[in-house]
Amino acid sequence: MDTESLVTETERELRILATALTDPHDGECLLCYVHRMLEYGCTGLRWAVRYRDLRAPRATAMEARLGRRGGYCDCEIFLNGYEPAHELWTPSREYVEDGVTYADDLEWPEQLPACRGVRAGSTQGCTLWVRQRRDGWW
Ligand SMILES: [Zn+2]
Ligand SMILES: [Zn+2]
Repeated sequence: MDTESLVTETERELRILATALTDPHDGECLLCYVHRMLEYGCTGLRWAVRYRDLRAPRATAMEARLGRRGGYCDCEIFLNGYEPAHELWTPSREYVEDGVTYADDLEWPEQLPACRGVRAGSTQGCTLWVRQRRDGWW
């Protein structure tokens, strides 16, 4: 094998590897997928669009819908649009002062459970995710 074909072969293998790593899992929802892929960085709606193209090619309104919820790029989907269901958040530390119970702010879970799954062709999130509310908590 000469150098050129070795390089070509290596590049081919890297592409296959990259594809396997960045494919949505079977039944994985859009939000779990994009959240997982953000480990590889945010470049516009790259991951959301990849999910749509692979899993829900007819969901052509997806970008507009995400945009209405403040998700103009993959990371903004989670800054503005959706957050983990509240039972998944790191439990707050409660303390009592003068007979009143206070709770520290909740924090995003460090690790999300496995995706709870959506039907094929859906671009909705699974039940791990809820819409963010603008008017405070709960
Ligand atoms: Zn972003
Ligand atoms: Zn999910």
